[in-house]
Amino acid sequence: MNMSAKFRLSAWFIAIIVILMAIMVTFVVIVDNADAIDDAASRLTDVVLTNEEDFDFSHGSIDWDELEIYERGVYCAFYDQNGNMLHGTTVDNIGSDPPFEEYVINTVSTKNDDYYIYDAYVELLDTGVWIRGVIPVSDDSGLMRTLVVLTYTLLPVLFLITIFGAVLISRQVFNPMGKIIDAANSISGGRDLSARIAMKNAPSEMMALSTTFDSMFDRLEKSFNSERQFTSDASHELRTPITIIHAQCERSRRKDETREEFLQSIEIIDEQSKKMSGLIDQLLSITRIQQGTDRYPLKDADFSSFVMSCCEDFVYADNRGISLDTDISPNIVISFNPALMSSVIHNLLQNAYKYGRENGHIQVNLKNNENGVQLSVSDDGIGIDSNQIEHIWNRFWQADSSRGVDGGSGLGLALVKEIVEIHGGTVSVSSVVGKGSTFTVTLKKDLC
Ligand code: ADP
Repeated sequence: MNMSAKFRLSAWFIAIIVILMAIMVTFVVIVDNADAIDDAASRLTDVVLTNEEDFDFSHGSIDWDELEIYERGVYCAFYDQNGNMLHGTTVDNIGSDPPFEEYVINTVSTKNDDYYIYDAYVELLDTGVWIRGVIPVSDDSGLMRTLVVLTYTLLPVLFLITIFGAVLISRQVFNPMGKIIDAANSISGGRDLSARIAMKNAPSEMMALSTTFDSMFDRLEKSFNSERQFTSDASHELRTPITIIHAQCERSRRKDETREEFLQSIEIIDEQSKKMSGLIDQLLSITRIQQGTDRYPLKDADFSSFVMSCCEDFVYADNRGISLDTDISPNIVISFNPALMSSVIHNLLQNAYKYGRENGHIQVNLKNNENGVQLSVSDDGIGIDSNQIEHIWNRFWQADSSRGVDGGSGLGLALVKEIVEIHGGTVSVSSVVGKGSTFTVTLKKDLC
């Protein structure tokens, strides 16, 4: 049977406490029953004999400061040979009566109580001093007695407090686990992706665990949602050209009569099918890159001449008088995949032309500085609104203002980001609406 950790922990602590208490009770019971160490009579003889030992008579006087007149329940008094008290204290008017009797424990009864008395005699030059100790027979103020009483009364209380504490703490520690398990179950069961643990008032480790799980659930939810969004966007993007093709076929079948009209219709259908095929190509590239980079090996090569030839070869159909300049530091050798990197440069240049202004200017720079190898593509076109900038890397995202400029799909920058990350680099953008944008790809030198 699998016992819960909560049960095991509580059982372990309770067992240890029970064993410790059992040992303590046994010890106390043995000592108590033996009645040896600390009963009234033994304390009485002990105190009197100590006083006898400490008795100091020198230069004709007694050093009373050395002697105890009350200790551990024992009253001590000192008498001359005639029974007169010289010093000390007694109880219930017990004085020199009954007569002194050395080293014998006697019992005296007064109307108040019964007492043990014990005497010792110290001889001085030509006289002597009696030491008489008195203690009530029922005196249980000794240390051991106190311990016994405390043990019998406090141990059960201590035991209950311990059990209560163990149960409370183990609950506090393990109940949050239950919440975590519930949340994880409901998420993995796909029932509620928005479920969170949102722990309050738990031990710090549990709070940390719950926060970690919650942020993991956040990421999972975001990734599930973005996958869902991706599938729905992809279907939507593919459906639009298909609908146009269907409509165009229908229209052509019913209305086109001349060869020119048929050719026009075929032109529209051709355009839409090219758009679909481009979209499918991009989707496939993203998926392939995500599935594994094995088929895109990185090789050391001259990145400077590669960037230069990409820029020279690039052709944009609707150029609108935009000029392209380059400032490329020579001989930068890094490790990269030419097929993938040409796609990055192609996409960035295409966007720069697409969103650039008429007769504007595009600048491509390649530098090798302390941050790494930096490739930047700047344009002086429409720019991107600051609150839209974080979305541009999302698949299928397009700013409204630019949507449909040349039928882009919103996949280009997602692909750029994916490829740059495969190369261990980062890509960023700075942009001002109406002034232009600069996209910067940074490849770490040590990873290159
Ligand atoms: P698209 O096919 O729409 O160009 P991208 O992923 O390449 O898709 O770009 C996403 C969006 O980012 C674009 O629709 C556009 O709104 C914005 N964008 C990208 N590059 C630029 C740029 N150079 N200037 C202004 N906006 C840009």
